[in-house]
Amino acid sequence: MKYVGAHVSASGGVENAPLNAMSIGAKAFALFTKNQRQWVAKPLESKSIDAFHANLEKSGILPKHVLPHDSYLINLGHPDADKLAKSREAFIDELERCRILGLDKLNFHPGSHLVKVPKKDPEYRDKLMKAELDCLDVIAESMNRAIEATKDSNVKLVIENTAGQGSNLGYRFEHLAHIIEKVEDKSRVGVCIDTCHTFTGGYDLRTKEAYAETMDTFGKTVGFEYLMGMHINDSKPPLGSRVDRHHSLGQGEIGWDAFRCIMHDDRMDDIPLILETIDESIWAEEIQALYAFIRE
Ligand SMILES: [Zn+2]
Ligand SMILES: [Zn+2]
Repeated sequence: MKYVGAHVSASGGVENAPLNAMSIGAKAFALFTKNQRQWVAKPLESKSIDAFHANLEKSGILPKHVLPHDSYLINLGHPDADKLAKSREAFIDELERCRILGLDKLNFHPGSHLVKVPKKDPEYRDKLMKAELDCLDVIAESMNRAIEATKDSNVKLVIENTAGQGSNLGYRFEHLAHIIEKVEDKSRVGVCIDTCHTFTGGYDLRTKEAYAETMDTFGKTVGFEYLMGMHINDSKPPLGSRVDRHHSLGQGEIGWDAFRCIMHDDRMDDIPLILETIDESIWAEEIQALYAFIRE
């Protein structure tokens, strides 16, 4: 079974998210459990938590098909000690909010090293490589600390692959593997594949063959046992451009074949498949179009 939905609005309170998902015919959804552009949020009120549970039940969507996303401000690989500490603290708070809502995943972007090496530097490649490897280690350490700080929780830390824009890491499957390797409690780790990020990160998905090869590479490098969710997005920029710009399905550089492949792929059963496409007014149609592939 496939569980398709979208990253819906939680404005007015987290309890509105399941209702917003229901209104577009979603069987899964993503949400921010706090304002994603602010560091601090007041704790969730019990009224809001109760309403969230009631609305989730009403929607028929299971907690395991909800994929919360953390704040854009958090950088678990930040090179500055104070800012890293602030990110780590905010990340633990996000994990707690998920646990309180009865959810079992938190989706996040690994982090960025923010190092700028001039292209004319003769050691450009080596310096950049070192900055990347060091940052991946910092990210893994942040995850170890967060897991330690939330010992009684079963919320999985779901690492998303990125487009690799700027100094964002996670654009190679090897980055994800490197982080996982260094996390002690692997039972608390998961991965989310974003199709747009995969494609602009340099992995082709446009044909059945390209899709098979990319997923095979993922399986060998990371492993499907870690796959806990997907972001289903077409891409405005071309293959390997390292630019993160989503598009509506079928309207970008990836095209429908990749999404047909996903809907026919058993490895994507029973995990949240989340649209983050740019035109929310057609999410209901995009969900229907995806389910129509199954009936082919
Ligand atoms: Zn995404
Ligand atoms: Zn993106």
